[in-house]
Amino acid sequence: MNAHDKINKAAPLQADVLIVGSGLIGAVYARTIIDDDPNINVLMVELGKQETRLIGDHKKNSNAVQGCGDINTSVHESVIDHGSAEQQSCHGLPAAPIVREVGGMGSYWSCAIPEQHPTIERSDILTNDEWIILHDHAKTLFDSTDTAFNHSIRHRWVKDTLVRAHQDRTGVNLPLACKRNIRGPECVRWTSPATVLGGLADPELLIDESSRRVVGAEITDLQTNKVFIAKARKYIICAGVVLTAGILFNSDIRAETGYAALGRYLTEQTMAVCQVVMSHSLMQSMWNDPRCHEHITIPISIEHPWHTQIQRDLYYYNTIPTSVDPRLILDLRFFGYVKPVYHNYVEFSSQLKDQFGMPQPIVHYRVTKADTDRAQAMMRNMKTTAAILGDYLPGGEPRFLAAGAATHICGTTRVGKEDDGHSVVDRHSKVWRLSNLCIGGCGVIETQNACNPTLTAACFAIVGVRKVVEEIHALNHQTKSLE
Ligand SMILES: Cc1cc2nc3c(=O)[nH]c(=O)nc-3n(C[C@H](O)[C@H](O)[C@H](O)COP(=O)(O)OP(=O)(O)OC[C@H]3O[C@@H](n4cnc5c(N)ncnc54)[C@H](O)[C@@H]3O)c2cc1C
Repeated sequence: MNAHDKINKAAPLQADVLIVGSGLIGAVYARTIIDDDPNINVLMVELGKQETRLIGDHKKNSNAVQGCGDINTSVHESVIDHGSAEQQSCHGLPAAPIVREVGGMGSYWSCAIPEQHPTIERSDILTNDEWIILHDHAKTLFDSTDTAFNHSIRHRWVKDTLVRAHQDRTGVNLPLACKRNIRGPECVRWTSPATVLGGLADPELLIDESSRRVVGAEITDLQTNKVFIAKARKYIICAGVVLTAGILFNSDIRAETGYAALGRYLTEQTMAVCQVVMSHSLMQSMWNDPRCHEHITIPISIEHPWHTQIQRDLYYYNTIPTSVDPRLILDLRFFGYVKPVYHNYVEFSSQLKDQFGMPQPIVHYRVTKADTDRAQAMMRNMKTTAAILGDYLPGGEPRFLAAGAATHICGTTRVGKEDDGHSVVDRHSKVWRLSNLCIGGCGVIETQNACNPTLTAACFAIVGVRKVVEEIHALNHQTKSLE
């Protein structure tokens, strides 16, 4: 059955724009389009279930977690099926998580939103002036702040200690996506995808070969197994770095049909962590003070090309033995970039399906010697920094995490200046040679990247929105002039 036959069989859901995926980037697309023109009709579909009272809320915003900062909210599946015969375990991303629920990873993320370094990390697809405006816009959407923890005595102590220890390279406040809550000194509203619709999934894009336009998306209601067709003028896939590439593959956008870069140039950061116990004398002075959360970074530089976070968080990188007071512990996390190379990639099985009937991802990922050497230098630097702050918690000694644990995969649907087989989308995040299909998410980031990538992905999404809105306005204009 061809694309038009499928469309004609069912009464379609209609929208100006269909967004697949309710994570942060899907939310950035939805919110920015509607901000630009409230008359544009946006339909968002999502595969996972809703787990929070507010649609797509951050798990840390629940009353339980706000009252007690140390509840672990991590419940992720792995992105890869390691039992699959097609996945070679030594070339995978064993720790890469995936979140299939309303809000996606935006219900769990640590909300760190540093900007990319202008020469080490930032893409030149956009000009510096464009980046400034985009960062501003994205930071407003994310409620960016770097002062929410200024009142914390631990935050101040760590920063002062780092400033005293190295004059040239000191700790600064980590930019965060959050807003201080009036409920109390430790209550913070963490930014998350807030406007999300539906529980429909498993879309297949139906492409009309003659006009090279997407003419519909096939959507299954997972509760009834009923298949709907959604028709829109623009389609935006924001289903996460790996699953977005899977939807494209499932829709015949793949190497064999002229998209050689799909899934290629995959990057994930090297990641080193340790836990340090702060000195006893210092803790005595702040023992009963609730203001004990620090969010510090030592920014990336040419001499030290890695991103650092000193940040107590509810994630599983390290756990603390129940007998130890968590107020004594500092978490150090260092993230190193990996150069994007063609031979690091995710492909999709034509035989195996995941539990939602989508093609199973198979990852081929190995870091080069240069990446490993950089990671070793980062580890040495983390040890030096840790020594300034205290002694290692037993069990929290420095170690590298397994590939994927950084949760910052990029590159699988990368942006490019031209359609030369090394990119999937143009500067507006539009899939080459398809006039009405856009991609959102960290998959579009084509450069090496040590910092947290979501702010950059949001910037690319805002550029995409401008084009989507401009083209919908042009279509409206055309329709009006025909009437
Ligand atoms: C614990 C943790 C901490 C993190 N901390 C940070 C941080 O501090 N800073 C930072 O920049 N980044 C951080 N990240 C990464 C950040 O969360 C992601 O980059 C960002 O949330 C990605 O948003 P997204 O919308 O592109 O994708 P996702 O959040 O992956 O959302 C994709 C959505 O699409 C849905 N979906 C998938 N397939 C389909 C389908 N076929 N049909 C319909 N829906 C579908 C999924 O269910 C999901 O809801 C962290 C991630 C984790 C897990």
